[in-house]
Amino acid sequence: MSRILEIKQLTAGFRTDNGIIKAIDDVTFSVERGKTVCIVGESGSGKSVTSLSILRLIEFENGMILNGEMNFEGENLVQKSNEEMCKIRGGQISMIFQEPMTALNPVFTIGKQICEAIRYHKKSSKAEAMKRARELLQLVGMSEPDIRLKQYPHELSGGMRQRAMIAMALASDPKLLIADEPTTALDVTIQSQILTLLQDLKEKLNMSILLITHDIGVAAEMSDRVVVMYAGKVLEEGSVYDIFDKPLHPYTIGLLRSIPTTDGDRTAKLPSIKGGIPNLTDMPTGCRFHPRCEYATSKCKQVEPPLERANENRRIACWHYEAIANKEAVLTGGR
Ligand code: SF4
Repeated sequence: MSRILEIKQLTAGFRTDNGIIKAIDDVTFSVERGKTVCIVGESGSGKSVTSLSILRLIEFENGMILNGEMNFEGENLVQKSNEEMCKIRGGQISMIFQEPMTALNPVFTIGKQICEAIRYHKKSSKAEAMKRARELLQLVGMSEPDIRLKQYPHELSGGMRQRAMIAMALASDPKLLIADEPTTALDVTIQSQILTLLQDLKEKLNMSILLITHDIGVAAEMSDRVVVMYAGKVLEEGSVYDIFDKPLHPYTIGLLRSIPTTDGDRTAKLPSIKGGIPNLTDMPTGCRFHPRCEYATSKCKQVEPPLERANENRRIACWHYEAIANKEAVLTGGR
């Protein structure tokens, strides 16, 4: 299986009055062709900065790539000119956002916006673009596409707007779709429909998907591989089965414990990870997770653990993951 995207030691940050602040640091992961990779973590973990960096959109937000490589189809995006990136954005790599109302233009009809995206990336007449826009609306399961083409974003429901946004993102037949919290603004039923739609489209169009989510349940449903981020660092990375069946990092273990279940005592308080994510300007020394980690030792407080291979298919940044995994197995009776 070949890799469509390979992120190597990516570090990116923002200019502030007090100098440059790193928002992501030494991030490494890859996306295989036709597969879905989910980046999970709490707000402030660096998930969205990672996705904005891949498209070099961070540069429009007072940010910059400080180090690393982003190889897409074998070419390093860091070295691309603005003109080249304009063609790649919305071309070979498309992105859908959390709130389509802010991404769609309120003063143009859905049809005009999808047609513009088609005509920007493909040489086609207005009539051909409109025909393709209708096909795309059908592809994303929009009812009455002829009517939707003539409607403005405010005339559509949240779910329809997200479908229109996905249709627009597909206008250029992208090889990689980046979906940044695509269902957060939707209710549970519509969320499930949109996730199913993304899975179907991935299969039909042989796309790869990089899904950014704070919802570990969404990651379990959607992903082939999972990248767990915290305070700008990758803490654990592995197949969806490894991560959910046998999490090794205390942060991943904490995230999984905080998923609500339908069995057990429904009146019991849901476990949570104590404390909060650190401020970018005041990172803890050593392991960034140590102030919240019940297993922290003095070594953890002083020396940052590297992201190392736990086995051929898995990487983890924790000094004590083997001992923790054994202890957790005893506590849970090996489940
Ligand atoms: Fe916890 Fe130490 Fe592992 Fe960090 S390195 S997660 S503080 S045990």
